[in-house]
Formats: sequence, C-alpha cells, structure tokens
Amino acid sequence: MPLPDLSPETRHLIDGRLVESVSGARFPNINPATGDVLGTTADGTVTDLQAAIAAARRAFDATGWATDAALRARCLRQLHAGLVAEKEQLRSIVVREAGAPIALTPFMQVDDPIDMLEYWARKAETAVYEQPMADVSFLGRPQRRILRREAMGVVGAITPWNAPLLLNITKIGAALAAGCAVVLKPAPDTPWSATHLGRIATAATDLPPGVLNIVASSDPLVGEALVRDPRVDMVTFTGSTATGRRVMECGATTVKKVFLELGGKSAAIVLDDADLAAVLPGAAATCLHSGQGCAITTRWLVPRARYTEALGILRAAFGAWKYGDPEDPANLQGPQISARQQERVLASIERGRAEGARLLFGGDRPARRGFFVEPTLFVDVDPGSAIAQEEIFGPVCCVIPYENDDQAVSIANDSIYGLSGAVYSTDEQRALGVARRIRAGTISVNGGQWFHVDTPFGGYRQSGVGRENGEQGFEEHLQTKVIALPGVAGQG
Ligand code: NAD
Repeated sequence: MPLPDLSPETRHLIDGRLVESVSGARFPNINPATGDVLGTTADGTVTDLQAAIAAARRAFDATGWATDAALRARCLRQLHAGLVAEKEQLRSIVVREAGAPIALTPFMQVDDPIDMLEYWARKAETAVYEQPMADVSFLGRPQRRILRREAMGVVGAITPWNAPLLLNITKIGAALAAGCAVVLKPAPDTPWSATHLGRIATAATDLPPGVLNIVASSDPLVGEALVRDPRVDMVTFTGSTATGRRVMECGATTVKKVFLELGGKSAAIVLDDADLAAVLPGAAATCLHSGQGCAITTRWLVPRARYTEALGILRAAFGAWKYGDPEDPANLQGPQISARQQERVLASIERGRAEGARLLFGGDRPARRGFFVEPTLFVDVDPGSAIAQEEIFGPVCCVIPYENDDQAVSIANDSIYGLSGAVYSTDEQRALGVARRIRAGTISVNGGQWFHVDTPFGGYRQSGVGRENGEQGFEEHLQTKVIALPGVAGQG
C-alpha cells in the first residue's frame, strides 16, 4: 500500500496552542533516502522554549493534573485513539524523515509504540499513590507514617532521531501517566514525529493547556536551556553518551534529576556448541535501520575453534542482506539519517581498516542518492581497537575471535557501555550462566526478545542512568514523600 501524502503539523505546541516560533524562522526537514527537502518546521529558540517551560510550570502548579489519575488515564487513552486514527500518516512521517525501513515500523517505530500508551493509561489509574507504612515507636512513643508517591513536576524530555516516534511516546507516556507536565524537545533531524503528536494532542484529547508542550529546533544546544532551567524538575534524555555527559553537567547547576538512556556497543557471544548455521545469519541484523539502534549487538564474539566455518556463514549472510529504499518492504536497512552521520560512519570504517581489521564485506558508499552506507563486515577485530570500543551507529559489524567462555565474557564486558547483549548456545543453562555474567541491562538468550513496554530498559556504566518503561520507568517520574503523625497509644 503506498504511503499517504505528508501533511504534517510543523508548528510547536505551547500552552495548548499550535504556534510558530516567536522569530518566525523555519528550518528544512530532509529525507535521508533522497537528500530532498520534505518541508520546513518552526525553528524554536530559547525564547520559545522558555514560554513552553512557563506553561508547563503553570499547568503543574495550578491545575489538578498531578493528582487526577482518572483524567490522566482518559487523556492517555484519547491520545492513543488519536494516534491510531492517524497511524498511516505517522508511518509516512517516520519512514520519510527518519529513513526508517517500512518493514520495521510495526514493531520498533509506529504500531507497537502507539499501543504503549494503553499501558501508561492503565499505569496511571492502577498505581498506588498513597499507603500506610507499618507503625513504629520513637523515644517510646508510637508513630504512624503515610508513604506518598507524587509526580516529579515539570519534565524536560530530549529525544534522538533513530526511533523518534517510539521515544517521544515513551517519554510522554511515562511522564504524563505519573502526573508530570512535559516539555519535549525532539532531534532536529526528525521534528515532525514530535510536532505531529502536538496536533493530535490538541485535536483528540482533554489535556489541560500546558501539560504537554513540544518545541522543535534546528539548534541542538537549545536543549541545554531546558536542562539548566530551574523551573524544570527532571530531565529525561535519550541520545549519545557524549551529549549525556554534557546534559548531566548542565543539570548539576540546579541539582535536578537527570535520567539518561545513552549509547551502546553490545556483544553477541556465540558459544562453541552453538548451531552456527542457524545463529550467525542474525549478525547481518547489525545493519537493521542502518545500524542506528542503541541496543543492536555490533560486536560478534565467535569461538576461535570454529572461526573459519563462522566466517563463511557471516560472509554469505552479509551478501544476502537487502538494503536500499526504506519504502520498499524488502529492505531492512535504509540510509543513515544525514550526510554528517554518513561521513562519520565512513570515517569509522576507514579507521577500522587503518587499525588492521580485515574488511570481509562492504565498507563503501554505494553509488546512489541519499545517505547510504554499505552493510559492512569486519573480522579479526582487536577487542581493544577503536571500532570495537566506540559506538559507530552505522551498519558495521565487528567479529572478534575468542578462546574460551571466560575470555568471551571478559571481552564482552571490556567496554565503557553496558546496554544490551546476546548469548547463543544449544545448552540453555550454559547460555544463561554466561548471560548472568554480562554487565548490561538487557540480554537475549538464543534469540529471546526483551523489547516490550513493561520491560525496564537501560544501561550499566556509560550506557545510562535509570530505567525506561515498566514499573521502574514509571517510578523514575515519581517523588517519594513520607508524612508522619503521632500514633495512638496502645496501638501499633
Ligand atoms: P545526540 O546525543 O546527538 O542528540 C540527542 C538529542 O540531544 C537531540 O535532540 C539533540 O538535539 C539533543 N542535544 C544535542 N546536544 C545537546 C546538548 N548539549 N544539550 C541538550 N540537548 C542536546 O544523539 P543522536 O545522534 O540524536 O542519537 C543517537 C544516539 O542516541 C546514539 O548514541 C544512540 O545509542 C543513542 N540512543 C540511545 C537509546 C537508549 O535508549 N539507550 C535509544 C536510542 C538512541
């Protein structure tokens, strides 16, 4: 079925109204598969962002939003219905502005993400916000205590471009469910996956003005104003580890809670008893969405005893991998998001060559329009080299030979990251034993899938701080308060 025409919302949502920037400026939105300009978006500055923060502050402080869980659940369900009604339009936006392969949109980019709002609606209405604690005695006097969970306040959300609708919904869903007011600042490369949500929110929901604000900008540094502002209580950020460090630094000036979902360099360990013919073709999935996924396993650890056999299977898998036009359902790999990212990925590949890794497949820019990079397979990769240590965020798989299970675990853990990982073995217990030793937030054993809205997702080490989704993801948006009262003598 052809994608519907784009007629996206291109204005900010501030205080319940869809508005242009105060400056009147606009910036272009580029289709990475062609390099063509799709259209323009209102270009927010710190002035627009500050209006959004003021609106969010008012909505949080002066309305009953934070304490009306039934209203929150209703609004989240209305938002869900509004998004379902415009699902094909949203699919069009995500495919065209993010270059996301259409075949991946049901799971990672559009359908499942939209349905996550149902989970957040249920969470809002079923969470326990106040409960008694066990009575205690203090200096011989009985004491009662009430444990309360209250919304964190105004949340500044900053999102990347690789899964823009998913991450915008993830941030908005959890924060609104908990009773927070939100200012969302999306990535400059994918503004409409955010601004279009603004139109749906105004048209389809009873969200009080100011509870949800969305400000797009061509200037990534506008986000710093959100992080520094004392009226913002918490920042939830998804992006690179380098920017995450900067966000943490900027948040320190007001000692605000900073929640970070950052980069990864996850390892897949193929144990020596694994069915290589069944497992190794999966390594080509390093190139899914052009390798632009934080949790993709980009380091494949293969037993030296079966190395030659493994390389034959890997070479064939990369040769059979389909990439190209993201609107063609046969392709699971489209372009890199921008010319800049394409250059960055190609520079990493050059570095890999210079470091002495053996290029078994790909490595070049294909002769076509758009920001494409060939699916690329490096073997004989030194685990300490830059291509084995740095997040490339491109379709580049690094194969590293190892001698025994202990060495495989130690290579997997030799990273500043700790986001995800995978283990393959015909012996499930053995694989589980290895999975328990990997220091990362989510591990797949024998192809098991952890991705779901109720799965707490996040990283060890420099892959992040905190967990998104699930009960833990909800709790990140709540403060804890204890109220103590004198107990009743003779009771407790
Ligand atoms: P990025 O860090 O360049 O940008 C992310 C967001 O931060 C964008 O909205 C950007 O405009 C904004 N930003 C940039 N500089 C800023 C600053 N100084 N202050 C405040 N905001 C700033 O990341 P990206 O290139 O958009 O996305 C790719 C990265 O995101 C990869 O490293 C990937 O691993 C990571 N990622 C992580 C997860 C996860 O859940 N762990 C999910 C998706 C992507």
